[in-house]
Amino acid sequence: MTLVSARSLTRSFGSLKALVNIDFELLAGERVALLGPNGAGKTTLLSLIAGTLAADEGQVTVANLKPEVARTRPGLLGWLPERAPLNPDLTVLEHLRLAAAFLGLGPEKTQERLDFLIEALNLGTKLKRLAGQLSLGSRRQAALAIALVGEPRLLILDEPTISLDPGEVARLRNLLLSLPKDVSFLISSHVIAEAAKVTEKALILDGGRLLAQKTWAELGPDPEEGFLKEIGQLETL
Ligand code: ATP
Repeated sequence: MTLVSARSLTRSFGSLKALVNIDFELLAGERVALLGPNGAGKTTLLSLIAGTLAADEGQVTVANLKPEVARTRPGLLGWLPERAPLNPDLTVLEHLRLAAAFLGLGPEKTQERLDFLIEALNLGTKLKRLAGQLSLGSRRQAALAIALVGEPRLLILDEPTISLDPGEVARLRNLLLSLPKDVSFLISSHVIAEAAKVTEKALILDGGRLLAQKTWAELGPDPEEGFLKEIGQLETL
């Protein structure tokens, strides 16, 4: 079953073409890494799918809904933006409760989700802290927990391991791998070896265009080398 459908997606910023004619489908349960050099268009594509940015041309749906509608449904779309807009004057717990309320989760479900996420993401000591006083890594963990509150079927994560220490990277990996098999991921990352551990294939963007869509097996034994080869950079290094 198709979960995300993108057709001829195009987006420019002024004269800069950030994305050109992207066609892409993500099936239910598929786990895909979105790769590409700096400025390739990864964040732009993820923002269009998450419904926080509008396309100039083309269409994108999530479970046959417009993304901005899909985001309001519990159990559908969890989104970790590159720069999560946390309110510096609210605690982590207040953010999590607000996210649950936004999705219409009842008190029991909210508590169940918070208990699970606090344990899985090691948030216990950070719950009462103001977001504005958190370290970068802790902000990232809080934002990840917010993305996961509604038990989404689709997780869109923009650079999820940025600022996480190695222990927290492993914790996130274990959490992602423990999710039910029908949960789909779309994860942008420059940490290619890590992305390869939690996804099945890579979607490679370059200069706003879709360059390749390959399984990790097709990219070869070294995921980073396979990626660099695809974007024509292996020989130049
Ligand atoms: P990175 O790996 O560096 O995060 P990316 O692949 O996520 O890059 P995008 O952030 O999608 O790339 O940016 C694609 C292009 O669009 C870049 O040239 C970027 O400078 C430009 N761009 C993105 N957002 C804006 C904006 N709001 N205004 C102007 N230009 C933008």
